[in-house]
Amino acid sequence: MSDSLAGTVIDSLEFARSGAFLQRSIGFDAMPRLADLLVSTDGSLELRVDGRRDAQGKSWLLLNIEGAPELRCQRCLGGVRHDVRIKSRLQLVGPGEEWPDEDLADDSADAIEAERELAVLSLVEEEVLLALPIAPRHEHCEAPSASAAGNGSSPFAALAALKKV
Ligand SMILES: [Zn+2]
Repeated sequence: MSDSLAGTVIDSLEFARSGAFLQRSIGFDAMPRLADLLVSTDGSLELRVDGRRDAQGKSWLLLNIEGAPELRCQRCLGGVRHDVRIKSRLQLVGPGEEWPDEDLADDSADAIEAERELAVLSLVEEEVLLALPIAPRHEHCEAPSASAAGNGSSPFAALAALKKV
């Protein structure tokens, strides 16, 4: 996963105006804030960003992000895969342009400042962090203390895992 998008910036309005697109795989290890929440940083997210200009002259970035990061289960502390499928539409608000009314905007759309040097990686990481569950859990599992008597996962391993969080 060498192609991390690190340092990649786009002129957001120009990107939208020209209908450009960007398609990459981003290793989890390239996103430190996300990596902090993961059991393992193996794997990657598939990203596609499309620039659009609509009939009203509004500029948009359309984000498609897919992947399956392995989060830490808050009950048993084991890894739990979470399917990430994000499709979001970000309206670019340029200088002097009016911000869309929050109440009127539909849920799938959001507005961001139209930056000349928009850091794509941190934008993507932000979107993914927002999409993750606050307390990820397996549907069925047991807290480590309940199975400490068995020879499965040791309470010490669980403790070490807790310290990492
Ligand atoms: Zn669990």
